[in-house]
Amino acid sequence: MDLNMRLKIWLSSPHMGGEEENFVREAFATNWIAPLGPHVDGFEEDLVRFLGKGHAAALSSGTAAIHLALIILGVKPGDLVLCQSLTFSASANPIIYLGATPVFIDSEAETWNLDPALCERAIIDALEGRILPGRPVQPKAIIPVHLYGMPAKMREINRIASKFEVPVIEDAAEALGSEYFGKKCGTLGRMGILSFNGNKIITTSGGGALVSEDPEVIRTARFLASQARDDAPHYQHSKLGYNYRLSNVCAAIGRGQMTVLPARIGRRRENHERYRSFFTRLNGRGYDIRLLPEPERHHSNRWLTTITIDPAKNGGVTREDVRLAFLAENIEARPLWKPMHLQPIFAGAPRYETGVSETLFRDGLCLPSGSNLTEAEFERIFGVLDGLFR
Ligand SMILES: *Cc1c(COP(=O)(O)O)cnc(C)c1O
Repeated sequence: MDLNMRLKIWLSSPHMGGEEENFVREAFATNWIAPLGPHVDGFEEDLVRFLGKGHAAALSSGTAAIHLALIILGVKPGDLVLCQSLTFSASANPIIYLGATPVFIDSEAETWNLDPALCERAIIDALEGRILPGRPVQPKAIIPVHLYGMPAKMREINRIASKFEVPVIEDAAEALGSEYFGKKCGTLGRMGILSFNGNKIITTSGGGALVSEDPEVIRTARFLASQARDDAPHYQHSKLGYNYRLSNVCAAIGRGQMTVLPARIGRRRENHERYRSFFTRLNGRGYDIRLLPEPERHHSNRWLTTITIDPAKNGGVTREDVRLAFLAENIEARPLWKPMHLQPIFAGAPRYETGVSETLFRDGLCLPSGSNLTEAEFERIFGVLDGLFR
């Protein structure tokens, strides 16, 4: 057996462009091996230039960015924060860090993201004391997520947010480079968060950013992220601080990655089109495997290509059958995010569900989507699918 056949195909692996090492070498040459330095500043500028507006604070992770965003909005123990249920746990964990209560909102079927109508219902229930019995409260924030790169219905969400004066924190961790009505994801709410974890569209090995049009928000984020040191010659603190700044070495990797970001988006979108023509052919043989189309004015970076397989329409084949067939060939595929309202850790949290995310979790699968997938790897992937769907 050809040894290459057994090499693992990853869902989404880091893809260096070549410039990263030069930036890192420069960090070493200038001895900026610290959680501050010229590359941190430069990376923030690169991000803002790419996003086309606002300000950015480079941080140690996307999770840290959400945590700081909630702190800046004044989230305290006992507060309610509305959060998309179908997401990675990092969207919701910082709500718990602060002793607040997440209210999980199901998805709509068109983008798989936060359902605006349900979100409105939850806000009204909170205001009328139906979520915390007998205690009418204004939710402190709404966290929509642009899952797998697909922009959420931000117009509707922002309309509700402004009607009830609840600020929006956009979780754009998976959507760097995605656009909604011509504007970049991450710039559509009061604050946006990005992630540069190893599996994201670009990576700093680990890292994140908080983005906002309000310079005061970003100043506060940088202050809190570097242990909230007051302006004094000695160490003086009048606020609780965090060690959340991005390392200058990691920022160096990020600067290199920013030079190839448009190319990475292009490749991910090409991957998606390849899968789409493959499944169109397959469906011609009587199957019904669905990809997520882009609604009008939604432009996804197609971070991951995802499919849904309803076994009732596909001869009983489940997404788990597909995943296991891939696994046997050393190809990584993953179920969609398991909704937060189904997670043991959030068992007691209030939820507004319609069953959309639950069905997506049952039927959905993320396919290998790296921008560095080779021709031979695509052939292995399609070979597995052809074997399963004869
Ligand atoms: C990756 C991710 C995060 C968290 O980012 P980290 O940098 O890993 O902390 C948050 N939300 C979503 C939807 C993500 O995919």
